[in-house]
Amino acid sequence: MIRKKTIQAGVILIILGIAAFRFFFVPFRFSPAGKQPFVIRVRLAHSPNRLELGAQSRCEIRDVKTGNLLEKEAVIPHGTEVSPADTGIKLGSRIFAAEGIRISPSRGAGITLNGTLYRGEMDIIRAAGELDAVNRVELEGYLKGVVPCEINRFWPFAVIKAQAIVSRSFAVHEALRRKDKDYDLTADTFSQVYGGLSSERWRTTRAVEATRDRVLEYEGRVLPAYFHSCCGGHTQDASRIWGTGLQPLRGVKCLWCRWSPYFRWQVRVSTQTILERLNSRGYRFKRIDDIRTGPRDGSGRVEYVRMRSNNKWFEIKTKDLRSAVGRRVLKSANFHVKKYPLFYLFSGYGWGHGVGMCQWGAFGLSLRRWSAERILQRYYPGAKITRLKRLLEKRDGPAAAWGMVIAYGDMWG
Ligand SMILES: [Zn+2]
Repeated sequence: MIRKKTIQAGVILIILGIAAFRFFFVPFRFSPAGKQPFVIRVRLAHSPNRLELGAQSRCEIRDVKTGNLLEKEAVIPHGTEVSPADTGIKLGSRIFAAEGIRISPSRGAGITLNGTLYRGEMDIIRAAGELDAVNRVELEGYLKGVVPCEINRFWPFAVIKAQAIVSRSFAVHEALRRKDKDYDLTADTFSQVYGGLSSERWRTTRAVEATRDRVLEYEGRVLPAYFHSCCGGHTQDASRIWGTGLQPLRGVKCLWCRWSPYFRWQVRVSTQTILERLNSRGYRFKRIDDIRTGPRDGSGRVEYVRMRSNNKWFEIKTKDLRSAVGRRVLKSANFHVKKYPLFYLFSGYGWGHGVGMCQWGAFGLSLRRWSAERILQRYYPGAKITRLKRLLEKRDGPAAAWGMVIAYGDMWG
């Protein structure tokens, strides 16, 4: 009897072991590195008048504009203060007569900005008496600092790989499109969250390496692969909220994000808060008597809400209401609203703008053992996975990107 139980327990343990292994399995075959590094420019800090820098190795310091060498073997101890000076930029006790300086540590060494460690080089630019910090980092190194910030690193490997391809496509699209601007991306939720070398984790780094150089392509150009946390049942057609879109961003049905804690949400917002927040955005309401949802698009999202104030009805675009009340409060545009004496109860589905890949849906599909490729085909129908190198050879410069331009404020949430 005891033996039988021991055998049963053993078998269960083995099955659980195999299941856990399959779930966390990370393959060890990686694609070879490309020859030409693709550099991404990430704006890390905007307009503070003091920054703290540090470098792990001796650095070269150059004038950003002219490329002239200003100092060859500069030592920048951790916590060195940078500030704007009348005649240029003050780094520690040295003053460099330049609008911008480029600090390049030796290959492989990191550079810290305000305590966070980054790969690549750092540009410090003086702008109107303040400073901008822009990290120039090779694409794959950049992604290693993005993927762990954008997805749960303990999720199945297929979904982390899908995220790596999505984040790579999005970053490359922005870099090609913004070639003549001062930077390509910011490091926050307005583009993609980037935590530098400090945030890198083993599984997400492996996913970046396993998908090296792979991007989503649509009709010979890099796809702006937008993504969001949870769609709530149907992803959004980009053209409906941003007025511009592409075939792969038209929206699809998603049955797999029910696992998400954000699939359904409910929030109470006091009438006073809604009034104050709307008025702080330029509206001039004296009171709010009622709020009702307006028409819905094919995905169930509300296009605008109707609001009664002093016996008049006003239409407010859902995206404006969400911006005013807070996109973390009204998590999506797919909601119902109910009036109570002192507050409104919003009940909704999903979190985020809803365009492109639904991360929680991708997680659900990966549990059904869908591959990264299949997941991406599902969320970006018509797009295919291709090598960036090949795409850039075919078309050069910005022509390789779809020129989809969306205001940074709109992209978020
Ligand atoms: Zn979904």
